[in-house]
Amino acid sequence: MTMTTVRLLPALFAATIATAGGAQTFPAPDPVLQRIWTLGMDSSNVYRLAQALTDSVGPRLTGSPGHRAGNEWALAQYRGWNIPARNEQYGTWRGWRRGVSHLDLVRPRVRSLEAMMLAWSPGTGGKDVEARAVVLPSFADSAAFVKWLPSVRGAFVLISMPQPTCRADANWKEFATPESFETMQRERTAATGAWNRRIASTGFSARDLPRRLEQAGAAGVITSLWSAGWGVTKIFQARTERVPTYDVSCEDYGLIFRLAERGQGAVLRARADAAFLGENPVFNTMAEIRGSEKPDEYVMLSAHFDSWDGASGATDNGTGTVTMMEAMRILSIVYPRPKRTILVGHWGGEEQGLNGSRAFAADNPKVVQGLQSLFNQDNGTGRVSTISMQGLVNAGGHWGRWASRLPMELSRQISFIFPGAPAGGGSDYAGFICAGAPAFNLSSTSFDYGTYTWHTNRDTFDKIVFDDLKSNAVLTAMLVYLASEDPERVPRERRVLAAGSPSSTAVSSAPTPAPPVVNWPACQQPARSSGQSTR
Ligand SMILES: [Zn+2]
Repeated sequence: MTMTTVRLLPALFAATIATAGGAQTFPAPDPVLQRIWTLGMDSSNVYRLAQALTDSVGPRLTGSPGHRAGNEWALAQYRGWNIPARNEQYGTWRGWRRGVSHLDLVRPRVRSLEAMMLAWSPGTGGKDVEARAVVLPSFADSAAFVKWLPSVRGAFVLISMPQPTCRADANWKEFATPESFETMQRERTAATGAWNRRIASTGFSARDLPRRLEQAGAAGVITSLWSAGWGVTKIFQARTERVPTYDVSCEDYGLIFRLAERGQGAVLRARADAAFLGENPVFNTMAEIRGSEKPDEYVMLSAHFDSWDGASGATDNGTGTVTMMEAMRILSIVYPRPKRTILVGHWGGEEQGLNGSRAFAADNPKVVQGLQSLFNQDNGTGRVSTISMQGLVNAGGHWGRWASRLPMELSRQISFIFPGAPAGGGSDYAGFICAGAPAFNLSSTSFDYGTYTWHTNRDTFDKIVFDDLKSNAVLTAMLVYLASEDPERVPRERRVLAAGSPSSTAVSSAPTPAPPVVNWPACQQPARSSGQSTR
């Protein structure tokens, strides 16, 4: 074990604490902050927690057995730390179990394809399905589409645009001549526009087209949602009800598309095992350290627990989940009798519209009313680097005081946005800030989250940067402690919003910036069952 020394420098009112994580400089000595650092750096649990969550529990698709097993696993961790915890049902969701899924090219040559059925895809009924691949052609109008439809009977239909290149743009930029990079980009933009017109020419949206194809007797639907980087594809949900929908990697999709388009006899063999389990109860996992002086005031930790299931949900949102669990573990040791109640929400159903957190906020108005501060994290493994005041004009003073107590190594990396604007969505803090409650997002450095891990087939354990995860857990624990001890409540005065106010969802989990905020966002009703889902 590392020797821990605490050296006080009274002249500077600074304390340096040396641990395995390096020497830390605190602006003022505070034994609780110093212990948080020591525990978080010298006996961190983040590696153990992240490995068990992402490798053993695996993905946590809302309503799936993995989600449920994850809730139980999280509960067991809290119980092991003697922190009271519970799984709270907030609704039901369509249960689905992912089994083995395969897609192989069997003619004109054999190749096992990098492919996966989408979430909630029907299976192939326990057997192999062999069928030719056909490409969705371009139609003069929707009548021509209807006339063509019978030809898909018994075929796999390819409905995504084949990418002209599966190299990341950064690679082109580095090695291609500027002219050929530009030509590629121009051609790709034109092809994308043409493909969108091709879909539109069917008279159906990309979302409704798969169902029409299966009604016409297609053996399955083949898609590819390239994520613009090496080897990455996004795995969302199927829209078919009886036949499987697959996502195929950029490279392999291009292969079968070219073979089919050029009449080279592409035949695929599919095997997909999937079980629909009916509407299942869905839960938020909550854990709590009761406040000793102001139990009806709350400091919350927040991170969604559910994930998509193309990989392990490691950075979306295994890292946020582990950050909050580790912060709770540390706080339960160094700060077991907090002034205010400390409450963590591991939300379900975030990916279907922030449903678990919105349901909690709707069901617990007293917690929303008594909220001193909520800290949410949901955009990957990187160090927390940006925190917006979410349009609360007088929150900044509190943040200034809290930041001034943090060790320099943590505070210097963070940019604050004053006054910011309230998030209308993007992640779970939106379900609290809509009510004017002080809910903040701890936004991380990107690590190419949007391209490489967010909802992709590569969101796996190995992508986690453990130094950053440790740092984020320590930061969160310190913020919770400081917010809990703060003599004053964080005020709720809202900024006046005008057209053009920057939305703070730009730094949330959604990689695409949201449009400017004009009105304070209204709190939305959660979907309490998959039947209420609009997605
Ligand atoms: Zn997320």
